[in-house]
Amino acid sequence: MTHLLFQGVPGVTDLSGSLGTGKLSTVYCPLSTVADGDELHEECGVVAIHGHPDAARQAYLGLYALQHRGQESAGIATADGHHLANIKGMGLVSEIFTDEVLSKLPGRMAIGHTRYSTTGDSALLNAQPIRVESTKGLIAIAHNGNLVNLGTVRSKLERSGAYFQTTSDSEIIVQLIAHSRAGTLVDAIADSLSQVEGAFSSVMMTRDRIFAARDPRGFRPLSMGRIRNPEGPDTIIFASETCAFDLLRAEFVRDVLPGELVMVTEDGVTSRHYATGVQQSSCIFEHVYFARPDSKIYGRWVQQSRDQMGRQLARESGVPADVVVPVPDSGVTAALGYAEEAGLPFRLGLIRNHYVGRTFIQPEQRVRDFGVRLKLNPVRNLLEGKRVVLIDDSIIRGTTSRKIVRMVRGAGAKEVHLRISCPPTVSPCFYGVDTPSKRDLIAANKSIEEIRQFIEADSLAYLSLEGLLKACDGGEGNGFCVACYTGNYPTQWVDVEDILPAAATL
Ligand code: SF4
Repeated sequence: MTHLLFQGVPGVTDLSGSLGTGKLSTVYCPLSTVADGDELHEECGVVAIHGHPDAARQAYLGLYALQHRGQESAGIATADGHHLANIKGMGLVSEIFTDEVLSKLPGRMAIGHTRYSTTGDSALLNAQPIRVESTKGLIAIAHNGNLVNLGTVRSKLERSGAYFQTTSDSEIIVQLIAHSRAGTLVDAIADSLSQVEGAFSSVMMTRDRIFAARDPRGFRPLSMGRIRNPEGPDTIIFASETCAFDLLRAEFVRDVLPGELVMVTEDGVTSRHYATGVQQSSCIFEHVYFARPDSKIYGRWVQQSRDQMGRQLARESGVPADVVVPVPDSGVTAALGYAEEAGLPFRLGLIRNHYVGRTFIQPEQRVRDFGVRLKLNPVRNLLEGKRVVLIDDSIIRGTTSRKIVRMVRGAGAKEVHLRISCPPTVSPCFYGVDTPSKRDLIAANKSIEEIRQFIEADSLAYLSLEGLLKACDGGEGNGFCVACYTGNYPTQWVDVEDILPAAATL
């Protein structure tokens, strides 16, 4: 039985409860445990729907397409002009939102969220959307990203009497809206967003309006789409990635711009820029790893960027070999580019088990012992006696990469050359990606040769920063955040503890 939280749902008292019978409770086990904590996690995916008779189901489909951005919890809030209902739960979108649950969410507007926690406890209360009764009326908010001046803003708000129900970033934004002296809601939202620093792509909903906003640096993606309706106003959609539009049969309209606040009402779409003159620093790691290859992010297809990363990698650090093998799934597109550029055969020499997820046997220790073998298995007849170029998108602690190299060698490969489709990750992310602190990042503490020895590869090379920027260049003058590869952060607020190298802690 999946545990759910109901808020404002017609005919249901606000409570934490459960629906359905005869099913086992979800046993929550974060993916990081399965992957030995050596995998980066996306923070969240958001979706918003305005003007659809079955908005809840549309939000469900949007979240379903964005499931890769967070598998810990999901929620949908709907509004029908009078009420604002919210249901959220722990687990996958499809586990939480059965037909029975969706039927309890009436209205022509919806916002939805799927989450992997980066700040705040991973509890049901912190799942989103967050629904709060404020001085400006009832409001629901769902947020992707990470605020970096959280502590300062929160203490300021608490001093002026704010009482927080959760530890999530979203509630900070809502409290700022509630405490704003601005006369109208849209002014209060703009006022609130201009006071927070960091990464946020947010969708908000009142009883009769939808808002979508991106932080002034545009760290996280957020796009607007529409479903044409010949008999009335179009349905307007916002989603973290354009792949959600495909499932909804919606057309892409444009990206929400950095520093832009868009409002959708019965009267149509209006927009304002609440912050200008800030250098754009969109997360380049969306192109490297997080976003789906079938999404268009910051005006460029992710598939195109990854293909170019692979080609550039082959040009920069090609090596005599027999076969190119990706570490699935995220290494696949870069490996295709590499193979084509190098004139080598591309082979799926590692098979990923897609059914390994959050729910797995306990106790945790047993899961750890399986390590990467739970997720990946080598195809011996493709690897035996071969010189293999293995393509992956990052090395975090190095432990998983070593297991994969050992696995490929164990399957009979004669040589294993690891190629990484981005530069060494030398500094943690403060903008919504769950990176370990600097002391745990292998590239922050070892040379490339030392890393090669550690992971036991015959050779190791990373894509250069110039090569990565070139591969992701959409030709639209995009500015990227590359702080995890350089340690140069686009905002002032970072946690000093987390950027100390291992040596400094001895
Ligand atoms: S630090 Fe890295 S992961 Fe974080 S926003 Fe910048 S590029 Fe993205």
